[in-house]
Amino acid sequence: MAVPARKTSKMRKRLRRTHYKLQVPGMSACPNCGELRRSHRVCSSCGYYGDKEVVKIKK
Ligand SMILES: [Zn+2]
Repeated sequence: MAVPARKTSKMRKRLRRTHYKLQVPGMSACPNCGELRRSHRVCSSCGYYGDKEVVKIKK
């Protein structure tokens, strides 16, 4: 089995991981109520997806 010739140092490991970061989900304003929602998802404040009401939101 192939095995790395040298141990990866703490610094090398950390340098490699500087490229890992949390991503912000794509947000856009709802065309129905203007609230921010994630794209391709049903709006959580009015229950609309596109121009149709898909989920009833209870108040
Ligand atoms: Zn909405």
